[in-house]
Amino acid sequence: MRVAVISDVHANFYALEAVREAISHEQVDEVWCLGDIVGYGPRPNECCAAVAEWCTLSLSGNHDQAAIGLLPLEEFSPIAAAAAGWTREQLDSRSREYLANLAPLSHVRGCELFHGSPREPVWDYVFSATAIDATFALTVEPLVLVGHTHFALAASLDDHLFGGLAPAGTTIEFGHDRWLVNPGSVGQPRDGDPRAAYLLLDLDAGRAEFARVEYAVERTQAEMRDLALPEQLVARLCRGI
Ligand code: ZN
Repeated sequence: MRVAVISDVHANFYALEAVREAISHEQVDEVWCLGDIVGYGPRPNECCAAVAEWCTLSLSGNHDQAAIGLLPLEEFSPIAAAAAGWTREQLDSRSREYLANLAPLSHVRGCELFHGSPREPVWDYVFSATAIDATFALTVEPLVLVGHTHFALAASLDDHLFGGLAPAGTTIEFGHDRWLVNPGSVGQPRDGDPRAAYLLLDLDAGRAEFARVEYAVERTQAEMRDLALPEQLVARLCRGI
């Protein structure tokens, strides 16, 4: 069983299409999305439709919930709130219905999946050793998948905690040791690599591989500027921060 895992698409359709094209050469059986399909980017409806059609499992993130009114915009930073407010107005009824039926966590094929973390599936950021420790303590499976931070990460626990950022090409073996992984973000990477991120899992072999693919960043940026989305959100895309 081979699975591709994506997260934090953030309405960046060109990034999503590039990932989809790259994964189409990989012969995967399933595609899982860890949430935040919308928010920040210019094409929320196209991304909802593509994820709905392509992904066999899909979680809801904080931006998805804000976009359909389940979370108040006051809980977001001013620029994130501005983009979330814009997204709310753009969503068509199909996207709204799709997002309304998603949950922020899942447990499938020997993996536990969260947008945030098991402490708080929607909002919690798994960055620190404390958060990683808590995530292992609250889960049982050999592989735990999280999104939300936009940093590709691989951390493990045997008798102590180890791991860290997972740049493109990083591979891990899970099963004997427990691993916590974050595939990174498709549509708004923040770990210094602006390319769209995804993860390939071989569940039978117990292997995970972190990958990145170039996409037309400038096309997404041009659309965002045309729509007068916040310039800070536009500028960060080509730097991956
Ligand atoms: Zn996100």
